[in-house]
Amino acid sequence: MGQSSSKPQSFQPSYKNYHLSSPLTDIQLSYDVIIVGSGYGGSIAASRCARAGKSVCLLERGKEWRPGDFPETGLAGLKELQLTQHGEKYMQGNPTDLFDVTISPDVLVLKGCGLGGTSLINANVALDCDPRIFKDKVWPKALRDDLDTLNGVDRELVLDMMKPTEYPSHYPELPKQKAFKTAAIHLADIEDLPLDKIYKSTPIYVNFEDRQKNHVGIPQPACNNCGNCCGGCNTGAKNTLNMNYLPDAKAHGAHIFTEVEVRVISRDDERAEWRVHYAPYVNGDFNATQRVITAPVVILGGGALGSTNILLNSKSRDMLELSSRLGQSFTTNGDTVGFSYNTKMPLKPVGISTKEARKDKGKGPGPGITKVIDLRDRNNKGVEHSYVLEDGTVPSAAELPYKFILKWLEAPHSAVDTTPGEDDWRELARHITGKAFTNTACMLAMSVDTSEGVVRLDEENGRVWIDYPGVGDGENFNTVHEGIKEATASLHGHYIPNPLWAGLFAKLRHTKGVTTVHPLGGCGMGETGEEGVVSHEGQVFVGNTSDVHPGLYVMDGAIIPRSLGVNPSLTIAMVAERCMRLLADKHGWNIDYVSDKKYNF
Ligand SMILES: Cc1cc2nc3c(=O)[nH]c(=O)nc-3n(C[C@H](O)[C@H](O)[C@H](O)COP(=O)(O)OP(=O)(O)OC[C@H]3O[C@@H](n4cnc5c(N)ncnc54)[C@H](O)[C@@H]3O)c2cc1C
Ligand code: SF4
Repeated sequence: MGQSSSKPQSFQPSYKNYHLSSPLTDIQLSYDVIIVGSGYGGSIAASRCARAGKSVCLLERGKEWRPGDFPETGLAGLKELQLTQHGEKYMQGNPTDLFDVTISPDVLVLKGCGLGGTSLINANVALDCDPRIFKDKVWPKALRDDLDTLNGVDRELVLDMMKPTEYPSHYPELPKQKAFKTAAIHLADIEDLPLDKIYKSTPIYVNFEDRQKNHVGIPQPACNNCGNCCGGCNTGAKNTLNMNYLPDAKAHGAHIFTEVEVRVISRDDERAEWRVHYAPYVNGDFNATQRVITAPVVILGGGALGSTNILLNSKSRDMLELSSRLGQSFTTNGDTVGFSYNTKMPLKPVGISTKEARKDKGKGPGPGITKVIDLRDRNNKGVEHSYVLEDGTVPSAAELPYKFILKWLEAPHSAVDTTPGEDDWRELARHITGKAFTNTACMLAMSVDTSEGVVRLDEENGRVWIDYPGVGDGENFNTVHEGIKEATASLHGHYIPNPLWAGLFAKLRHTKGVTTVHPLGGCGMGETGEEGVVSHEGQVFVGNTSDVHPGLYVMDGAIIPRSLGVNPSLTIAMVAERCMRLLADKHGWNIDYVSDKKYNF
């Protein structure tokens, strides 16, 4: 690493006319398959059903986003923020806005809303979960017996489409990587583990070469290191779902509609089909008139909160008989964050504008995450003690609140000097000159919580909230924060914990709040409806029985029945590919995985 490649970016395709979605006037009354949501689960289902020759309709609540349209400033970011709080209708924003935050007493969830789901704003990491996670009997036996195929064929299908790769050696070495390596050396020493066992590059869904057409026909320039992955990639380098599975689905005939919310699902037994009740949003406003389309197969891919929300709404209106486990087994994936503030290493904590980054790849902080300190196997400590730390970069759209919270709220109140008495004058000087903020590392962590949260329906507004009292008191969060504190000491910085967990906000609220970007569960898998909401194939159980609703599936993060302890998208995608393989077998469909029909860009 280190050979600085700082040429200005020359290949910049225009995506202005790139439309995957169709006007709602084109929607038909019935399809072979209706898919709800366009995250990993929904997009995989759309591609595979279309490749099986079925007529497919995909409905997505959010807008269609193209590279070039994403917010890069604080004001533009604020305009794309929707906040829903337990008990309120909409605190702020429209239900189609990109950054979708759900605030509950103990848990704050951030997810993406748009065509491509949370892939639009995620940090691209494609890591496998610890093999011990799949040994847990919470997973149905049929899935545990099928791990070779899940980790083989199904995983390969995901990698073929998403193309994760490590940050390449011909790109400039990033300041955050140097800092992270220092932290890794210190933690390896404390844990008595070899450095190369815990310090690794993360495979990321990012394109580092100019491609006139990628494997599905879409032009993609190389990454320019702007660091705005979690605000949306304006270059087109990020392998979001609208760059692969979704155009693949469209090329094979799928109809895609955006700014449409599915409310409930009901069964028409006489016609042996499902009725999907949806409502369009016009310019962000909810149009209350609901419409119905039908299909014999419906696949929910609305994510842990979205799919659970649809089923809870359907159950509360007596439209569907569902397991009493619906809403249970919610997990925060043990997510947390901590900051090494005012370190002695110059860092680049936030993204820069695409315009600036295009001039020189050496200027930007680099992709959202590039490295992991992997402490999942801590000398035979159980999986509940495991965690990972990653080198996060905050997008430019969030720079102002990030700086304000760290510099003005948390640094004076919650920061712990990890090297007291050392370099005090230099620390003060950095504080005065503003370098304290630029010398800050953001450490993102995932661990294992109890998976005992409950997604509940707010009957008033039909939206869900998370009921997970005391989740933040879990030992896993203490373990992670001790780790981040040690990492900070190696950088001679001030440790600032997650403001909601142990900072000013936590003190004001008297709660150790948890922030998650990896919500999982709500429609967890089980052997029968006594134990789960869906079968190992993602098919929805009838009440608490082992019977399943014919043709009704959930295939997203909602069916993951426990914490994964690592970034979950690869596991969600592998499980969705498996569900699609089994669905096709059951219905006698043939998914043409080798068709090389490409999107006509
Ligand atoms: C900032 C951030 C960084 C992240 N970084 C990573 C990372 O590096 N690696 C990783 O593995 N994971 C990461 N994640 C998490 C990852 O992106 C999610 O776990 C994953 O996208 C979940 O996939 P899904 O299929 O369950 O649903 P989602 O991706 O959440 O998609 C669900 C979609 O369904 C739509 N929808 C919901 N309800 C309805 C409805 N009623 N009608 C119509 N549409 C509906 C939503 O608008 C949304 O677009 C990150 C998340 C965030 C927020
Ligand atoms: S660093 Fe910038 S160009 Fe690279 S993938 Fe992330 S947002 Fe896109």
